[in-house]
Order: sequence, then structure tokens, then C-alpha cells
Amino acid sequence: MSQLIDDLKDVRLAIFDLDGIVYRGNNEIPGVANIIKRLKARSIRVVFNSNNSTLTRKMYVEKLRKFQIASTIDDIFTSAYITAEEISKIKLNAQIYIIGEKGLKEELKAKNHQICEDVIEPNTIDFVIVGLDRNFNYKKLAIAQNCISQGHAQFYATNTDATLPENDIELPGAGCMVAALERCVSQKPISVFGKPSPLGIKMILEKTKIQPYNTVIFGDRLDTDIMAGNQARIKTVLVLTGVTTKENINELKEKKDIMENNLFPNIIINSLEEIFV
Ligand SMILES: [Mg+2]
Repeated sequence: MSQLIDDLKDVRLAIFDLDGIVYRGNNEIPGVANIIKRLKARSIRVVFNSNNSTLTRKMYVEKLRKFQIASTIDDIFTSAYITAEEISKIKLNAQIYIIGEKGLKEELKAKNHQICEDVIEPNTIDFVIVGLDRNFNYKKLAIAQNCISQGHAQFYATNTDATLPENDIELPGAGCMVAALERCVSQKPISVFGKPSPLGIKMILEKTKIQPYNTVIFGDRLDTDIMAGNQARIKTVLVLTGVTTKENINELKEKKDIMENNLFPNIIINSLEEIFV
């Protein structure tokens, strides 16, 4: 029987990033469904942690099912879900203006917050929350600005990814919408809930009751997945099936800032298939 690579022999919880690890856009990365099955067969809990806030957790369960990966909504931790959980710790039944899509709106509604679509009185809005919005426009930006600058709304964001992988190209990510609002209100979000914040990983550890030293994250981005994992003190594995290449790592090593910034993974593998030898 094949063995897990030695560094992973104590793992009881595996956190998978989605884009660049499980799939690229709508294309499955070959072999991943089988690797996940083999991990589960060893009683390793598998969960998924994505910064993409556009889909609900239920929609992710369906998307994964298409790739022959079984999951339930309790296995899915998106930046939208993490945002909804964290916002609810700050205020219950809040009035919120969203720059974002269905995933973010539905996760907040499920926590009994009210999503205001057309804000007439900016003073009534508690929070402006920004995530990826592929229908982003000037009107939405102006409403969000008004809620913060004229009203008393607090500014939060799901994530600040610069780009969004879409099959074989990169499109603008949530960070572009966040930057637009930052510019016109002259302030940064009070908190950004997605990776590289370790909040989501800490939430996963709390909910699964598994210790950091028994946990690993598989990610393709140094400045989100690996940084979040290192800050949460779990094992970090960079998989070169997404945005990061060997050349990127060599360049960063030469600059020598990689160690200081928590950006360096414990392990680097070319594909997930290398975790079994
Ligand atoms: Mg990724």
C-alpha cells in the first residue's frame, strides 16, 4: 500500500484551496478526486477553503460533485461564509450594502443580516462589504462610498486577490473592487476576512476540533494560501498546478524576503499525486 509522504504522516485534517488545486476555472485538475478519496480512506478529514466569494457553499458542493468529489456544506469554507460568521460576531441583524455576488449575499442573509440593494439613506447602513463582483459598476461604487463617507458604515472586504484564474487566463480579482473603494473613501478595510488572514483556518480548526500540528493546507498561492497557513501554524504545501511556478520561487529566494514574510511553504510539490509514494 502506498504511503503518505513522511512530512504528512501526522495529518488528520487536509485543507484544500480550490482554484489551481482542485480545478482551474471549469476544468478539473487530473487525479485530484482520487487523491481526496485516498486521504479520506485514511480517516483524514478533507475540507475546502476558497477566497472566491461568488458562489454559495451549496453551489460549491454541486460544482465539486461534477468533478466526482463528494462533500457537504460543512466541508466548504469560502471567504463569503467566513465573512458572514465574523460579521455576525460584530453585530447581529445588520443592514449591509454589498459589492459582491450571490455567494456573499446569501451567506449573510442566512445569518439574518439584511442586504440593502438600493440605499436611499446612507445613515441606515452598518457595513459595506466588498467581494468579487463581475457586474461591478460606477453606481455601486458611488453608493458604497456614500454609505462610508456620508453615513457611518464600516468598510470590510472578503479578500484582496489581485486576479481570478479563469481556465487559462487571469481576470481581475476582488482586490480591484476593494482598491477602487479604498481610493474614493481614503481608507482601507477594517478587516479582510479571506486568506492571507488566518481567520478562516482558525475557524476550520475550531469547528473540526483538530490541532494545528495535525493539519495541512494545499494551496497554489504564496501570498494567500501559504501565508494564511503559516500564520495559523499549520503545515503548508505549495502545489505547482496553479499560479505559482518554480521560477517564481527561485526569484523570491534570490530576493531573500520570502522567509521573513511567512511566504515560504514547508513542502513544494509539482502535483497532488506526489503526496503518495
Ligand atoms: Mg488558488
